[in-house]
Amino acid sequence: MLKTGESMVVRSAREIWDIALGELEVQVSKSNYRTWFEKTLGLSYQNRYFTIGTPTVFVAEYLDRNQRSLIEKTLINLTRPDIQLVFQVTDGASYRPDETPAPTRDKSPGFNSKYTFDSFITGSGNRLAYAAALSVTENPGHGYNPLFIYAGVGLGKTHLLHAIGHTALAQGHKVLYTSAEQFTNEFVNAIRHKQTEAFQQKYRTVDILLIDDIQFISGKEQTEESFYHTFNELHNANRQIVVTSDLAPKALPLIEDRLRSRFGWGLTVDIQPPDLETRMAILQDKAVTRGVSMPPEVIELIARQSRDNVRELEGSLNRIIAYAQLVGAPPSIELAEKALESVVGGRAGIKSTDTAAAVPPSKVISLVAVNFQVTPEDVKSRRRDKKTVLARQVAMYLIKQQNGCSLAQVGHEFGRDHSTVIHACEKIATELRHNSYLDRVIQSIRQNLTSDQRPSD
Ligand code: ADP
Ligand code: MG
Repeated sequence: MLKTGESMVVRSAREIWDIALGELEVQVSKSNYRTWFEKTLGLSYQNRYFTIGTPTVFVAEYLDRNQRSLIEKTLINLTRPDIQLVFQVTDGASYRPDETPAPTRDKSPGFNSKYTFDSFITGSGNRLAYAAALSVTENPGHGYNPLFIYAGVGLGKTHLLHAIGHTALAQGHKVLYTSAEQFTNEFVNAIRHKQTEAFQQKYRTVDILLIDDIQFISGKEQTEESFYHTFNELHNANRQIVVTSDLAPKALPLIEDRLRSRFGWGLTVDIQPPDLETRMAILQDKAVTRGVSMPPEVIELIARQSRDNVRELEGSLNRIIAYAQLVGAPPSIELAEKALESVVGGRAGIKSTDTAAAVPPSKVISLVAVNFQVTPEDVKSRRRDKKTVLARQVAMYLIKQQNGCSLAQVGHEFGRDHSTVIHACEKIATELRHNSYLDRVIQSIRQNLTSDQRPSD
């Protein structure tokens, strides 16, 4: 049997960088990632020097100036705390070929080939948004206009916009996708270079305008006004407008109230975070797309880790896939936990060196028992009354959190398996969102645990 920890010794710069990219991809915006990171390569890792290959000097300089600390932080987790970055421009020949050249890539330039209606998994939280987006492509400009989609980060807004883009392009429509940020930048440049006409021409002559993250323009008076006019012109001509935002129209701090009211003219839909089953379906689908077979229990483990952000889930999935490739073992619960360690624990290291002072599980159990007025034996027993169950779940939650040990290890203390521990941690995490009493109890147990635990280091 392969011991994942041990086989970590040999790993190439390329493999390390691939894992790092998996993490960076979820930390920066999609466009940022595509522009600056996608074509980079791990070239070498020697002593404390990690060399990253870039396609152009421009990319090297940008990364060096603007992304150095983020990259360092990510690499430290995978290498050593004193890692030094070196950027090196490499000729195109050494670049990785696109691993899976997507068939649709060239058909819809400017759109992410992965973001299609087919690859969008629906559940109760996003079904309406999906249906609305789809209907826009059936009857652009004549149904819901504008379509306004709002949701928190990582819930599929950009994905849906691109899906509309693909379909509409295939139907021969003239489609323009832009982020509100890009719209703003172009507008500012147009003013600077006295090219506002070209700017207007570009935005006001399309069949379908897809504007992502409109919140970006709020408060920018001139840009708001320019967008207002663009909107009117398109709308009057029965051109379709689709807008996404992280806030509902009424909550957007817009200066132009007229713009806000126009956003409400068509259909406004929100996307709610997916439930557990939808999260699992999304992950399973992404794994299959990547040609990786993930055991259901690993999918569930990932799905339980983040509820409100699909991008984060995908990041965890990517990390596990890369890690499995790195150690040459199939994905398992144990491997997944190791791969996610530094993300979940928020601390350095696949092989963490600065482990916090571990608290003996027995101590956690007895403190919890006192607080819940049960006995430590009860906590470890199979009793099912409410009070005991809650105490047991809190104990599992605290041992897992406090010691950062694996689910299996925690389960072992109670003679249970990892799934019971996942359930307990999940349950308590949910409960803590609205139960301030439980929150206080847990805080106080935690304080007691650590107050006389500090090692004299
Ligand atoms: P947003 O723009 O709302 O921040 P994105 O559209 O960028 O979110 O989505 C983040 C990631 O999550 C993307 O990789 C996207 O494909 C994925 N995603 C989000 N929702 C779904 C879904 N329902 N089905 C499949 N993938 C999804
Ligand atoms: Mg987005």
